[in-house]
Amino acid sequence: MKSNSTVLAVELEAKQIWKQFLEIIKSNVPALTYNTWFLPIKPVEANDSVLKIQVPNNFFIEWIDEHYNTLINRTISQVLGEDGKLIYIIVEEPEIINEDEPTLFDRPEPESPAKAKNSFETFLNPRYKFDNFIKGEGNQLARAASVAIAENPGETSFNPLFLYGGVGLGKTHLMQAIGNKIIESFPDKKVIYLSSEHFTVEFVDAIQNNTVNEFSNFYKSMDTLIIDDIQFLIGKEKTQDLFFHIFNTLHQAGKQIILSSDKPPKDLKGLNERLISRFQWGLTADIQPPDFETRIAILKNKGNSYGIEIQNEILEYIAMNITSNIRELEGCLIKLLASSSLNSKEIDLNLAKKTVKEISTDRRVSISIEYITQVVCKYLKVDENKVREKNRRKEVVLARQIAMYLSKKLTKSSLKTIGLHFGGRDHSTVIHAFNTIEHLFENDSFIKETLDTLTSKIELGAA
Ligand code: ADP
Ligand code: MG
Repeated sequence: MKSNSTVLAVELEAKQIWKQFLEIIKSNVPALTYNTWFLPIKPVEANDSVLKIQVPNNFFIEWIDEHYNTLINRTISQVLGEDGKLIYIIVEEPEIINEDEPTLFDRPEPESPAKAKNSFETFLNPRYKFDNFIKGEGNQLARAASVAIAENPGETSFNPLFLYGGVGLGKTHLMQAIGNKIIESFPDKKVIYLSSEHFTVEFVDAIQNNTVNEFSNFYKSMDTLIIDDIQFLIGKEKTQDLFFHIFNTLHQAGKQIILSSDKPPKDLKGLNERLISRFQWGLTADIQPPDFETRIAILKNKGNSYGIEIQNEILEYIAMNITSNIRELEGCLIKLLASSSLNSKEIDLNLAKKTVKEISTDRRVSISIEYITQVVCKYLKVDENKVREKNRRKEVVLARQIAMYLSKKLTKSSLKTIGLHFGGRDHSTVIHAFNTIEHLFENDSFIKETLDTLTSKIELGAA
């Protein structure tokens, strides 16, 4: 039995550790996300490098894991150290408490399926499967090609497979489904999934550690290489060069390459021409937003996966009102389920209307000025503090003006509020910045490209 004071100390420590977590998370996610999904979590106990937290229900875990897995893992390392672990407890369903079994937040253990067969981290999320990918007009070709590749990796003429389309339409899901299927059918094949940003980070690490050769050989040894959101290689010449060599080696050896982007290869301005031409060697398939019937099917399927049946009237309402992004469609459903279970309320049309409204009107509000500033500064390699100070260096002024411009475009904040976020500048400064950047956007292709990339990063939630 622990004494009261020990219990108190453990609780206190948990609170302090969780506070550090929240600070990191707060500066990395939109405010709405933070308030909805992270604030309701309660720290329970901290012991060594293990922190136990209490969440209202399973949806929280699923949602957070699906959207912020990388951030959470990074935060675990930062706050709890390399062996850190986060264990969750669900309040209402005590039978789910099982500290011995791996939780969604645990780092993959060596015995996890993907790792047992591959002696390296595949970064595949087993949740993405063909089974739970709904077929629709918008994704027909992309899906069919993906299935064909999963059955005969490297042996179809779809090499590389290049998937492109807007945010939240299923590119990552499909690519990961291919990877998961290949591992399932061909356990000896080496498959790895990375976003192009992750790939870049690993490359920079390799440069710093003098292990570029090992790095390059590792990727050249893959049977299937999956690189997501390749548009983020733009402007990264060295990474592009290395990727070019890896691509060639794999392609010549008949290994499968799968890529995705927000636009077709020919529109990837700023990417090396020789890469663009190679991307077009295989099959380029787009994914279009789902039609109404597909949206309903996706909602039904997702509801079923939670064992919940929702009235058609409600599904139709959601599907009518959220049309262009499947992630948002799912987000709405999950939010609906969460708020109904949190408040022990029936899911009815009113609750659905309220949730849809929140999702749609908060879409813009949920992007914070801080977040925009952070993404802009990171991308342009400018110190965030300088942007808020009275620094007149050319690159700082440009970063500041771009951040102001995007804050105006992507949030509902007033000019005054925006000015306040940039060291208390007044609204006329913000107007000036907006006009300057708008003019450049129309006349300077480099600025246009930069703004497009930044906008998609910000909307994707990727810093
Ligand atoms: P993208 O990579 O294109 O931005 P994702 O693959 O991340 O989009 O998809 C966003 C969310 O929507 C994911 O949770 C994914 O599982 C889901 N999703 C996308 N397309 C479908 C589909 N056709 N059927 C079922 N779920 C889908
Ligand atoms: Mg994606």
